[in-house]
Amino acid sequence: MGNTSDEFIIEQGVRQGGILSADLYKVYINQLLDRLYYCGFGAKIGDIICNAPTCADDLSTLGDSTQELQMLCSIANDYSKMERYELQPKKSVVLPHLKKRSKTTDTPVIFLGDQQMPVVDKTTHVGVVRTPDNSPTTAIQENLQKARRTLYSLMSAGLHGENGLDPETCIHLFRTYVIPILTYGLEIYLPSPNDIRPLEMFLKKVLKQILSIPVTTADPASFILSGLVPVEAIIHLRALSLFGNIALLDDSSIEKRLAYRQLTIHGHTGSSWFSNLAIITTKYELPNPMEILRDPVSKSQWKTVTLRAVYAYWGRRIKQQALTYSSLEYLSVGHYNPGKIHPLLRITETQTQSREVNRLPVKTKLVTGTYSLQSTRAAFNNLDVDPTCLLCKTSAETLEHFILHCTKLQHVRVQILCDIASACGENINFSQLCTSDQLRIILDVYSTVDVVHNKNTEYLAEIDRHTRRLCHALHCERKKLFALLPTRRRYGL
Ligand SMILES: [Zn+2]
Repeated sequence: MGNTSDEFIIEQGVRQGGILSADLYKVYINQLLDRLYYCGFGAKIGDIICNAPTCADDLSTLGDSTQELQMLCSIANDYSKMERYELQPKKSVVLPHLKKRSKTTDTPVIFLGDQQMPVVDKTTHVGVVRTPDNSPTTAIQENLQKARRTLYSLMSAGLHGENGLDPETCIHLFRTYVIPILTYGLEIYLPSPNDIRPLEMFLKKVLKQILSIPVTTADPASFILSGLVPVEAIIHLRALSLFGNIALLDDSSIEKRLAYRQLTIHGHTGSSWFSNLAIITTKYELPNPMEILRDPVSKSQWKTVTLRAVYAYWGRRIKQQALTYSSLEYLSVGHYNPGKIHPLLRITETQTQSREVNRLPVKTKLVTGTYSLQSTRAAFNNLDVDPTCLLCKTSAETLEHFILHCTKLQHVRVQILCDIASACGENINFSQLCTSDQLRIILDVYSTVDVVHNKNTEYLAEIDRHTRRLCHALHCERKKLFALLPTRRRYGL
């Protein structure tokens, strides 16, 4: 231990992680890229040479014949000798391409200097896994694995449902650290909804966990409450952003020439990435990609335009889906505002954080129709479960009975209902309302106001706080009384 080498001076190289490093390295390596380009061998789309896509030191050469690829590799090898750096023999590999018709691959023999390059069935270029069939499946699996690992590492910091951080912070952490890993590099594949199903499932499951609602909750609820959008929308946003960047490039750049060519020749119909992108722009009612190429907009403007269009589309779609679930009838679906958490889950600065975090789950379960009441158990259970309330035994235990009528819980309810009424004030004459309207206010006060950007947020937050208090107090009392029942009665048998 403690042995260190002698000092040595670094005469060549760029700083690890430095902002300028990628650009400086490009200046250094540019001669090689020029040599590869002007030799004219390797992959072409139409007459556009695209034989060496590169990011900093991550260089790949493309071509359909072994001879041409050998030429490109020899050029790279010669250049490395000239500039006195060494190409990593283990990291330099050959990835054969699956032929579309015969579904077979050749095993090309290519030498780097005097060593034969290993042939592999998957390799990583710019952090994205590539396979011979060019399908996104492997990349999706790897992203899922990495995202799961990141999620677990954040759990110790409190990123989980009950008793953790408040939901708004959890969602923010999840968006910042996990989602980028989950969707990394997939914009270049533009995978089908079927391909990304595992990612969508992961997203929904984690959201439900963070929001402390059961996995059986209707899917739209997890998006409406968290303010997130499905993975498909995120990938589309990334693809649109990439296209925006291509449009801003010089007309002589390879990417932009490819864009013009593919869109002119194939339009919406080809299998090219640009054709698929044209379909996406139509879907979100964005300008035609050709127009954007000719007259590009600034990066920030493009971001605003695409974000608005994509969020509007998914907002509409998820709201429509939510309306088909009867369990979500009390949730103010209209307040779904992609990018923003639902006001029901927001803990304001004046509220006591830990207490609210503790109270929230009961309310969230009640409003998403997943709180286990005798009537819901009777409806979903094959066994003969009696819907009658086990506490008072007078009528069926419905949401309304539990929250407003059950006589056994009356002593808990009275005071808090008064508080709710006084928080409502004269605007809403709470005590005069019919029970179904009262229930609506208790479950989601935001469903009673139409405007999304209501200015009375503090007023509503205060009502909301008392309703959380009520739901939590009722839940605790119900649980306490339940524990006193004989076991057979507890299960409603
Ligand atoms: Zn009862």
